[in-house]
Amino acid sequence: MTLVIRGHRLSRQHQEALSHVERTAGAAAQLVCRRMGVRLHHTEIVVTTSQMTPDLLIEAHRSMFGNQLAIWGLKRMPRSDFGITTINKAGILVVINADRCRSGGELDKTLVHELAHAAQFSRPGGRDTVAGYLRANYRIDRMSGREARDANRRVAGDEREAERLESLAAELPAGASIR
Ligand SMILES: [Zn+2]
Repeated sequence: MTLVIRGHRLSRQHQEALSHVERTAGAAAQLVCRRMGVRLHHTEIVVTTSQMTPDLLIEAHRSMFGNQLAIWGLKRMPRSDFGITTINKAGILVVINADRCRSGGELDKTLVHELAHAAQFSRPGGRDTVAGYLRANYRIDRMSGREARDANRRVAGDEREAERLESLAAELPAGASIR
């Protein structure tokens, strides 16, 4: 398992969030992968702000689908989420929003939730499923009504699984909390 952690355009007030993620991400990934029985693909965790989140996502998707990727996609990118997980050319990208995660507890829960998505995308065929979904979202390919319904059902199932696993955050070392 390769886990790379970095901050992106963080102000000083957010440095603590980055340090917290650096301390707990490895343990969180281990807990999640053991529970799900999955080996994580190469995963990069980037701690950033609401404002920078869309840029990171578009950069990840451009690494997969090319520079001509429609910019309108940017406007549709979520800004307010605690975190979001997607794929890029190198593997998987987890974005943690330091503006939204205001405590160590929220950071831990978000890390576990997003790493659960990373593990889902690391399952056999998981990456192809996400790529197909993105290609449809960006209008690179069309999905039939049935394919779209299947994809939506899978996304909803993944979301429920990630929410269930959030309770694992309680098993992370308590000393790691920042507040
Ligand atoms: Zn989720």
